[in-house]
Amino acid sequence: MTASHDAPLATPDAVRALVGPVLDALADGVRERNGPLPSGGPSAVKALADVLPEHGVGPAAAAEVARVLAAGSADPADPWCAAHLHCPPLAVAVAADVAASALNPSMDSWDQAPAASAIERQVTDAVARLCYPAEPAADALVTTGGSESNLYGLLLAREKFGAVTPVCGRNAHHSVARAAWLLGLPRPVVVECRDDRVRPDALARALASVEGPTAVVATAGTTNSGAIDPLPEIAALRPDWLHVDAAYGGGLLFTERRNLLRGMESADSVALDLHKFGWQPIAAGLFACRDGADLRIMDTNADYLNADDDTEAGLPDLLGRSLRTSRRPDAVKIAATLRALGRRGMGELVEACCTTARGVAAAITAHPDLELWAEPTLSTVVFRPKAACDVAALRRALLDEGKAVLGRARLDGLWLKLTLLHPHTTPGDYQPLLGLVAKAAR
Ligand SMILES: *Cc1c(COP(=O)(O)O)cnc(C)c1O
Repeated sequence: MTASHDAPLATPDAVRALVGPVLDALADGVRERNGPLPSGGPSAVKALADVLPEHGVGPAAAAEVARVLAAGSADPADPWCAAHLHCPPLAVAVAADVAASALNPSMDSWDQAPAASAIERQVTDAVARLCYPAEPAADALVTTGGSESNLYGLLLAREKFGAVTPVCGRNAHHSVARAAWLLGLPRPVVVECRDDRVRPDALARALASVEGPTAVVATAGTTNSGAIDPLPEIAALRPDWLHVDAAYGGGLLFTERRNLLRGMESADSVALDLHKFGWQPIAAGLFACRDGADLRIMDTNADYLNADDDTEAGLPDLLGRSLRTSRRPDAVKIAATLRALGRRGMGELVEACCTTARGVAAAITAHPDLELWAEPTLSTVVFRPKAACDVAALRRALLDEGKAVLGRARLDGLWLKLTLLHPHTTPGDYQPLLGLVAKAAR
């Protein structure tokens, strides 16, 4: 067989012929693993024999890689894989992503993505309306996630006000400090929290102490605990720019408890991640902005992609809708999901996770050997054994045994964390895990 026979292009028939065996191999790998992650730690994880052999093995490599990948994965579809904001993707999103991969539209110019850019526009319009229902000028961009969205928030603030000083809570995501570093801004002024929420009095003092313009980054759903900063009080302090990092808590926008995000509508910009609450394969970030005109600072010109005469002739100019050039059409899988489930369907999945979290929290409270950090705000349950024990070592032992993927949260001391993003679980699914943690601590 010649090499060219081994490399058919991604026509529907050619992809169908390979996807079946790939999915069979994936199922084999999952059976081989038999748990939420492989046991034995990093040294026990198998990779491939040779990733660049002199003579290729042909398309069977796709199935082989799928089996190795599945056997060695931390699988978010297993309820006990619950350390991070790492969701099990929905089938509808994965299926639509196959089409996106096969057609490979690139989002940097209209002539590479006529329908994909129209679909992306629909998604960003819908997200802008979701975040800013009363602001017709609101707009949104598709990003790789909260980190890029937080970067955009500080970038817009810097372009509008010059060298802004970022101010954020101790609870803020690490990407905020990194964005400040990358943008040449001062190191963020870090404000103390209570119960993982920014203290408005401390924030007011911090703002008063800064000379020059300020950009406050508030968090709606912290990575550690899911706590939501007091957004109305923060907005009332009127920083020059307010960015709300709702990478996690933004999922509440789909629910009947949107009021928990009250105050967000006065933010200048918002980060939202649909690869958390949203059940998308990574990446599916969104950056919403109250006044779409603020996004114009991202505009740039490359004659081969968005010549002025092309734009004047009516071809949409896409280049300013990201800092990237070639760009995957991540809006395609998002569009399929939003259309399949609707606002209510999305909201029900968010609430299912939050309900399970409350049930697990109740089980911890009722457990004689476990201590709950606080009632969950979203779907994160923070807890630990009551008896003094090495929480970090306990977590690593469960990883090493391949039994469970628990997270860690450094709050007042070190705690264990369950970040529940599996929408089809019940508190009963976690009862044996609680028993396992209590036993491991003894
Ligand atoms: C996950 C998260 C981020 C980072 O998002 P990525 O998609 O991983 O870049 C930022 N902020 C918060 C609060 C998060 O939970």
